[in-house]
Amino acid sequence: MIRTLVGFDTTSRESNLALIEWVRDYLAGHGVASELFFDEERRKANLFATIGPKDRGGIALSGHTDVVPVDGQDWSTDPFALAEKNGRLYGRGTADMKSFLAVALALVPEFVGRELATPIHLALSYDEEVGCLGVRRMIAGLEGRPDKPRLCIVGEPTEMKPVIGHKGKRSLRCHVHGYECHSALAHEGVNAVEAAAEIVAYLKSMARRFRDEGPYDPDFVPPYTTVHTGRISGGTALNIVPKDCRFDFEFRFLPGVDPEALVEEVVRFASTRVEPEMKSVRPETGIQFEELTSFPGLAIDAEEEITQLVFALTGANATGKVSFGTEAGLYQKAGIPTVVCGPGSIDQAHKPDEFISLEQVRACEGFLRRLLDRVAA
Ligand SMILES: [Zn+2]
Repeated sequence: MIRTLVGFDTTSRESNLALIEWVRDYLAGHGVASELFFDEERRKANLFATIGPKDRGGIALSGHTDVVPVDGQDWSTDPFALAEKNGRLYGRGTADMKSFLAVALALVPEFVGRELATPIHLALSYDEEVGCLGVRRMIAGLEGRPDKPRLCIVGEPTEMKPVIGHKGKRSLRCHVHGYECHSALAHEGVNAVEAAAEIVAYLKSMARRFRDEGPYDPDFVPPYTTVHTGRISGGTALNIVPKDCRFDFEFRFLPGVDPEALVEEVVRFASTRVEPEMKSVRPETGIQFEELTSFPGLAIDAEEEITQLVFALTGANATGKVSFGTEAGLYQKAGIPTVVCGPGSIDQAHKPDEFISLEQVRACEGFLRRLLDRVAA
């Protein structure tokens, strides 16, 4: 099953429909009906299917079908053809996160063979890697329905350890519109690169403040909110005062930190400390911010039912928190308590020669079989 799923090139920019239709047909072959939640262009879809009673919410096994690109990465094998070597399975998505979905799908015959008191939902999403975009439609579509999941397990790679917290993310693009002129007459122009640099420097000062003053949560690495500028472009030639500059930046915030306040702070700096000087030279200049992506953080208590369930299934009695984002925060926001727990390591994700160990695959199988024993009537 892992081989089959890895064989579909579901890089986020591509359609995932070939994989989704394959899964739909496979489930139909076992008498399980699927519901698809399409994107605007019907190029991609989420899949939702329930095994067991349909009149109540059960436990969702959730994962994304998309994978990150392999462009420019030096792979030893074809990333979309599973290769087994020394107890490891190599291929794009083996760790992040087709193996969890594959194990769940492979066990469908066992799940349909038992009478379930609590239903098991399979929830497959698209466009997770580009900002947790796709799953939002499925979560919205399930709202108010009797079969809206009551609890959820997101199988992102945690080496089968229960993860009850992750950071949220807010990313933006800033456009600085300056005024072009000969650089010998720099005083008559408005230098967009310099204005952008002042804002980037301010973002860096925020990053230092969070690092040095908190707030802190020692369960995260690093234990504070991070701020980072990842791309910048502007200017055309050294002897021209640049008219345009754009840069992309992000906040990775601790659960409990208000991302609106972070955005407001940088917008306020730009509008009160940078823009007035620009406009005093040329009133038509200015600074604009555009939202890129955002998703909420995750914060679940160790005492909650879903955490206790995952403890029982893994045999773990300690929880962790991670700095990477997942769809779990969106489920929690929708009133579905969610824990992240899946096979493989995030260390292998997004890299060339991504792999999962067979030992992790087996651990995931055991985990889901124990779940079956608990939900069976
Ligand atoms: Zn992932």
